[in-house]
Amino acid sequence: MSGIYIHIPFCKQACHYCDFHFSTQMGKKEAMVLALQKELELRKDSFAEETVQTIYFGGGTPSVLETEEINALIATVYAHYMVAANPEITLEANPDDLSKAKIEQLAATPINRLSIGIQSFFEDDLKLMNRAHNAEEAEACITMARTYFDNISIDLIYGVPGMTKERWISNIEKALAFQIPHISSYALTVEPKTALKKFIDKGLIGPVDDALAQEHHHILCERLQTAGFINYEFSNFGKEGYFSQNNTAYWLGKKYLGIGPSAHSYDGVQRGWNINNNPQYIKAINQGQLPMEVEELSKTDRYNEYIMTGLRTIWGVSLERIKEEFGAEFYDYLLEEANNKISKGLLIIEQGHLLVSKKGKFLSDGIAADLFRVN
Ligand code: SF4
Repeated sequence: MSGIYIHIPFCKQACHYCDFHFSTQMGKKEAMVLALQKELELRKDSFAEETVQTIYFGGGTPSVLETEEINALIATVYAHYMVAANPEITLEANPDDLSKAKIEQLAATPINRLSIGIQSFFEDDLKLMNRAHNAEEAEACITMARTYFDNISIDLIYGVPGMTKERWISNIEKALAFQIPHISSYALTVEPKTALKKFIDKGLIGPVDDALAQEHHHILCERLQTAGFINYEFSNFGKEGYFSQNNTAYWLGKKYLGIGPSAHSYDGVQRGWNINNNPQYIKAINQGQLPMEVEELSKTDRYNEYIMTGLRTIWGVSLERIKEEFGAEFYDYLLEEANNKISKGLLIIEQGHLLVSKKGKFLSDGIAADLFRVN
């Protein structure tokens, strides 16, 4: 199983909390789409043995693309790669782009999964985050999208300063009322060099409170579980049959090709990342060069990554895989380090898999770090 990720590095405006790579200068959009197509062509040999099961348009804001541009990119994938019979093709979209006409056009493309950046249904939160959409658009776009797409995911952000418990519960209830099959939900994090960090440092916005975020996450897990969702990864909740195939493959350590500025790739041994500068990316690609840095992952790096991502999922860490892929030394080390956490009730072993318990859930990143090895 392998996937292609295509990064669309444009946004209409900068959300205050965001540290992804994007530009608000749309002038280079046309040249960018051509460069993305060219990169797909340039890298086809590296994926010649792979069957592409998922194609994922992420960003940035992929819904700023015209339908013709999306179709051209998908056609390029089909022209140069072996694509599975029914691939999952996801487009991340923002509510302000999803007019009825746009949704109708998207439904006529091969896109079969929409991931909509709602973040909140409340005006105060959306303004604080500087989202480009308003509360009315957040609700309207889901109603319209439901008519054309079955496989819809929405993103919600919790732990926002000023977001009371009641407002967070309202957000969850509004999401559930739309009967969508997948929800991704993340805590607001304060990244360096973001507007949010500056506002908090100046006291213009209250601090982000970890305890509040933890409470919100707990409420979310309980409510979505009651509504029939499976919390298959710390931040992801899906109905049976609607888990994100793209993200699951990534967490399970499958190969993926990242196309576009700032996109990351992984081939099972090496990790690569493209330059995060739009003009430089376009220039290099047009000269037939890949503006990519590559790092070979050591066995320890791969083990640490598997522990980190595995413990965030319901599949946990397969002890058999540890033994087979990393050897007896890593296996013994893991069991020895895990024992202490097992006795504290933070980890459990079930059917040969090491899993984070309910008690340890919000601590999973810290627990994983304690099980890491040093190169
Ligand atoms: S739309 Fe997404 S990528 Fe763009 S600024 Fe907002 S959070 Fe970042």
